[in-house]
Amino acid sequence: MGIIGLVSKRKLFPMSDQWYADGLRFKCTECGGCCTGSPGYVWLEEKDIDTLISKLKISRQAFLRRYTRQVGERLSLLEDPKNFDCVFLEENRCTVYDARPTQCRTFPFWPSLLRSRKDWENARNYCEGIDHPDGEIFLPNN
Ligand code: SF4
Ligand code: SF4
Repeated sequence: MGIIGLVSKRKLFPMSDQWYADGLRFKCTECGGCCTGSPGYVWLEEKDIDTLISKLKISRQAFLRRYTRQVGERLSLLEDPKNFDCVFLEENRCTVYDARPTQCRTFPFWPSLLRSRKDWENARNYCEGIDHPDGEIFLPNN
């Protein structure tokens, strides 16, 4: 999984003097590029677990056993140890897209990618939605 950080919009930097003050163009094509490719973690918040349990219609215990791993104090989704596909990725598609965790929903508007235009543009190497011509303009922190 390429996803390695967790952010909520309230943690994004103040807008006024940032390089992205005019907004950032993005459209998720659901290509799955951010869900594979390199080792990483998809951290789960309690509300993410509740949403996924509801989506999958299984018990919490079964969900935790089948789809997650404990990493220190936190829980992450499992990934394939060979190709690093997220446990929910099938044929390059997220099988729980409408119930995907917060970390996935907030990508690519992560502080690590908003540090500079270069960081944002580098992420295009695996995310075709960044600066997508059909994308909407998003204002991080709004
Ligand atoms: S839950 Fe879905 S969007 Fe998130 S990393 Fe896994 S496959 Fe990708
Ligand atoms: S890599 Fe970008 S366009 Fe593809 S699924 Fe992830 S966020 Fe969407």
